[in-house]
Amino acid sequence: MKFTQTFIPTLKEAPRDAEIVSHKLLFRAGLIRKLSSGIYSYLPLGIRSIQKISNIIREGMRRGGAQEVLLPLVIQKDLWEESGRWQAYGKELLRFQDRHEKWFTLGPTHEEVIVDLVRSDVKSYKQLPVNLYQIAPKFRDEIRPRFGLMRGREFIMKDGYSFDRDEANAGVTYQKMYDAYTWIFSQCGLRFQAVEADTGTIGGNFSHEFMVLANTGEEAIVSCDACGYAANVEKAEIGYPEPAVAAPAPAGTAPVLVETPGRHTVEEVSAFLHVPAAGIMKTMIVKADNDVVAAVIRGDRELNLIKLKNALGADEVALAGDADCVRLTGAHAGSIGPVGLTVRIVADLEIRTVGPAVAGANQDDHHYTGVVQGRDFQPSQFADIRNTVAGDRCPRCSKPLGITRGIEVGHIFRLGTKYSRKMQAEFLDENGKSQPFVMGCYGIGVGRTLAASIEQNNDKDGIIFPLGIAPYELELISINMKDRDIADTAESLYRDLSADGFDIIYDDRDLSPGMKLKDADLLGFPMRVIVGTKFKNEGVLEIKVRQTGEVVMATRETLREKLAELRKTLSPKS
Ligand code: ATP
Ligand code: MG
Repeated sequence: MKFTQTFIPTLKEAPRDAEIVSHKLLFRAGLIRKLSSGIYSYLPLGIRSIQKISNIIREGMRRGGAQEVLLPLVIQKDLWEESGRWQAYGKELLRFQDRHEKWFTLGPTHEEVIVDLVRSDVKSYKQLPVNLYQIAPKFRDEIRPRFGLMRGREFIMKDGYSFDRDEANAGVTYQKMYDAYTWIFSQCGLRFQAVEADTGTIGGNFSHEFMVLANTGEEAIVSCDACGYAANVEKAEIGYPEPAVAAPAPAGTAPVLVETPGRHTVEEVSAFLHVPAAGIMKTMIVKADNDVVAAVIRGDRELNLIKLKNALGADEVALAGDADCVRLTGAHAGSIGPVGLTVRIVADLEIRTVGPAVAGANQDDHHYTGVVQGRDFQPSQFADIRNTVAGDRCPRCSKPLGITRGIEVGHIFRLGTKYSRKMQAEFLDENGKSQPFVMGCYGIGVGRTLAASIEQNNDKDGIIFPLGIAPYELELISINMKDRDIADTAESLYRDLSADGFDIIYDDRDLSPGMKLKDADLLGFPMRVIVGTKFKNEGVLEIKVRQTGEVVMATRETLREKLAELRKTLSPKS
């Protein structure tokens, strides 16, 4: 492709709303333009990269035994009512009516559509497994679209769904998809880690998120260098020394009531009473489905609502509002504590070894000192309900855990029979008995993968594309279009290299060398060939590697071979 014949509107400035480097560079290098909040157009370079990622995904899915389909974007309400998600999905689901006043949604994910498809055509265990995927736009009315392609409202996703006859076979399919994802993200040139993720009430280590490691990531990843354990902070367990029983409560004095006027936060109480935050028991009232519990954690910790939800086996948990707190405890948040509470108490495992401690007295502006669990209050349950922090013990090997940040580019999930039961999707087993399909689902954010790659691969001058997903692998630059020798050589090199199968773009613009080279750095194609004065004087062509800055000299005769060699070194291992 010649630069003058395509559309690459590069810019000096990034848009005002661009906070992270990938957003800025995608925009400045002319890969995307914004239409409205969270809604983007892909320009020629953008779509080339998206297609390269998509083709890597296709090959990975083929290796994993999945088949490509294309499902409708517009989905009627009744299907979503069958699964119960028309109500449950919330405001991310865009709902609208057609001219007959029938309700529809733009699909944010396609479990309903695929279950409907498979249940009508797959009737026997002999047809299983079925594993189908598509690469298509999704729409989610995200509350805070931001970071460009990272969190859009309309975005391209690869979503796949598998159907198996039982859990054992579903496990085999899951592993194939895990392996396919590992291959796909490696081919994309990403540094990533698969981490265990929350599975809600399904249980088991049946969900993995594929995280690209980057400081700008929205997710916190807990990992152990010693044994390789890695999990999303939402789910990461904490290792505690055994035995996991509460320390015996010391007999003796009762808690002492003290006034703490106007001191409500842990910091305020800690400073006022001269106790460290770790010597305070923080109590929060939490609604869990139709029940209410009090969650008690150490003052310097953060409550993890997902862990609490799983510990309670609840479907939904949320912090109670102020009115509920007062009604149930007699005090506002900030003076609540476990002593004398009538609601059920769930205490974090760490509370077993905290105390005598300071805790709210369920009386505004009052706290107790000398509170001991087991003596002054009795938790009905001890559970791991706090966020993991760096230095906590690994649940597998007890070594200290570290925390890094990541961007979730893919998510694989074992669904079990959740959708097939609700939507009556069944097949006949060997004994002629009806069984619900055992499902899995597998997503990859295609645009997010592109953005995440740029987060990882850039410098002050621009993008540094990995070979596998670069819009072009090679840029040819003629330094002076007015010099006939140079321009003619460049033109013939362009023809030759194209014929040799290089994925090449030729900058044939009549611009200053400075501008062309600046753009080349910004666009970040992996290899660059410059036809300049060195060629005119000495017959030498310069090859520059964007990633390393390395410059290799070639002649017309050796150019092809040197480029092929370089391409090999830059290629991800298969
Ligand atoms: P998140 O927690 O980031 O909202 P999710 O759990 O909602 O993600 P899934 O439903 O598992 O995401 O979707 C599969 C993949 O689609 C994600 O791993 C991510 O790469 C991508 N994705 C999800 N939401 C968006 C979005 N708003 N914009 C771009 N990509 C997205
Ligand atoms: Mg989401």
